[in-house]
Amino acid sequence: MNETNTSLTERSFIDDGFLLMNLQNRAFEWVSPEVQPIVLGLLVLVATGRFLILLWPKWQVLKSARPENRSDNSLKRLVHTVQIAFLQLKFFKEVKTGWMHVFIFWGFLIFLLRAAQFFAIGFLPSIHTDFGGFETLYELFKDLFVVLVTLAASYALYRRLIIRPERLTLSPEGVVILVLILTIMLSDALFDVAWLARNPEAGAGGNFIGPLLAPILAVLGSGAAVHLHNLAYWTHVVCILYFLTLLPESKHFHIVTSIPNVYFSNVSGCGNLIRCIDFEDKTRESFGVSKIEEFSWKQLLDLHTCTECGRCDVVCPALASGKPLSPKKLTVDLRDHLNRFGGQPGVPETPALLGGVIQDEALWSCTTCGACEEECPVMIEYVNKVVDLRRGLVLMNNRYPAEFAGAFKSLETQSNPWGFGSNTRADWAKELGVKTWDKNNPTEYLYFVGCNGSFDDRGKKIAMAVVQSLRSAGVDFSILGNDEGCTGDPARRAGNEYLFDMLASRNAKMFKEKSVMKIITHCPHCFNSLKNEYADFGVELDVIHHSELLERLAKEETGGKKISGKTVYHDSCYLGRHNKIYDAPREVATRNIESGIISEVETSRERGVCCGAGGARFLLEEKTGTRMSHHRIDQLMESDPDTIAVSCPYCVLMLEDALKAKNLHDKVKVKDISEL
Ligand code: SF4
Ligand code: SF4
Repeated sequence: MNETNTSLTERSFIDDGFLLMNLQNRAFEWVSPEVQPIVLGLLVLVATGRFLILLWPKWQVLKSARPENRSDNSLKRLVHTVQIAFLQLKFFKEVKTGWMHVFIFWGFLIFLLRAAQFFAIGFLPSIHTDFGGFETLYELFKDLFVVLVTLAASYALYRRLIIRPERLTLSPEGVVILVLILTIMLSDALFDVAWLARNPEAGAGGNFIGPLLAPILAVLGSGAAVHLHNLAYWTHVVCILYFLTLLPESKHFHIVTSIPNVYFSNVSGCGNLIRCIDFEDKTRESFGVSKIEEFSWKQLLDLHTCTECGRCDVVCPALASGKPLSPKKLTVDLRDHLNRFGGQPGVPETPALLGGVIQDEALWSCTTCGACEEECPVMIEYVNKVVDLRRGLVLMNNRYPAEFAGAFKSLETQSNPWGFGSNTRADWAKELGVKTWDKNNPTEYLYFVGCNGSFDDRGKKIAMAVVQSLRSAGVDFSILGNDEGCTGDPARRAGNEYLFDMLASRNAKMFKEKSVMKIITHCPHCFNSLKNEYADFGVELDVIHHSELLERLAKEETGGKKISGKTVYHDSCYLGRHNKIYDAPREVATRNIESGIISEVETSRERGVCCGAGGARFLLEEKTGTRMSHHRIDQLMESDPDTIAVSCPYCVLMLEDALKAKNLHDKVKVKDISEL
């Protein structure tokens, strides 16, 4: 069709009042206006049909998965979704590459409206809308994001193909998607440019790419502009539809699932294992997860949401120290298994999940430190899944490391993991004359010492230092004495939910009987368990870590002897990441060091690295790879410290062992903040 004809056609549309919003009634000569909606309709039918057919089984599996309540705290969830999903705050931490994803995601939102415009043109050539100033603004933003997304996708392609960062898996699918994104951007720009080249008299609205490039295209002649205009339209819509068909079977399915996954993520913090198994429920035939369909719907949604970005792998201390655990691989293996066998329980050739798809040692390697969760941009949860799978191993398959056998027995009989007599629990406190809790004459706080502080020689010194600190700060406290029992944290993290249930029920009953309400603890594992997990056992406790109390009470200079030299602070995962307590221990430490300055390593606070003791791993020998504590000490030694300040007794043990192994124990001391 020549230019005169095109203009006539358009003019007649204009005269009849048929025009679109500033999409300017772009007539498509390749297909007649009558046939155009039919061709487009067929394309849309095929693409959405394939999308829905692939989506349907996933939806069915999610619908029939185990229930899990994630409908609480809707306002908090909404704010969280805006921050994490829409504002992409996690990506701003990544100075070098975060911008790529931010631009692509924001561009995706902006181009949703643009895609609607393209399909509107195709289906309703006679539509007429006019959004005035909004439209001009939108066009400006749209063009800006054509540029930004093109830059981001080009750099992402360059990284994938040339730089090849270790954490990324080079898959053809990732490359195809980036090429599709680039094609969608370029065809969008070409559509506007060609239109302006065909109609130089037409206004460009807020578009700036069109006026810039249209004169160049005009040189090719009006016939070329007409064809390029048509080509741009059909390329654009076909790419969008092809993109849609690729989603359900690829990692890019996260485009559909990531926003709901962020909304339904664990907004209460990742330290509490949120599913308490009801052993009284006689209808339950299995506990934990031994088969993929035993995960909850949220856990399955997690699997569909992984983008395979590998950020979790980069921060995993187990992987870094050579253990057979890659969080990314764990998720991808579970997802692939779900996609192949989910919803078909009992199919004879289904491979075993535990010991087949997922190796036992991978599960026992996890310290439940939560570093992967902190890093994951789409809020995938690991700790709950790992512990659920451990529950499957322990409760349903009776399979666990040999070291746990003794620990489980000791916890059951003596209420501590090492088998010390429970009647010696309070021996450490005899010389100090620490008061024992008296229901009729209670102190303000109960100091819950924990197994480490009660039985371990190094731990006892910390407990004594805590007593001295609390006394200096004038805190009114007493201990439970031999009535204290393990919180059950190691049993729970080791997958023995039954044992945890028993220990926690016993403690909760005692707290109620003795009217205990306010608890101080120096162990972040006891702290986390009592504070976040005991509500499930009917007690609402006001639990405070000694660092918080000391920070609050000792605002004034103590006048005591301060330690000299350089001090670095090591964050405990269960105090920091799991309970967001970062400043209080630093504040206490700062007041007690001569320089008044705490050194920080790059891997601190939210990005602190586990010492290797969490997840009940303090009970296990580290036979594979290097020791996690050595890995951590190497990082801390980068600051060349004289003292490592810590606020967890297990971190103290692990780091001191690492210093001894590296022959650094004479040079560097590890101290709990109560010992400073
Ligand atoms: S919780 Fe920690 S140890 Fe476990 S997979 Fe995540 S980063 Fe690795
Ligand atoms: S779990 Fe999260 S951090 Fe790990 S690969 Fe998947 S999306 Fe990335």
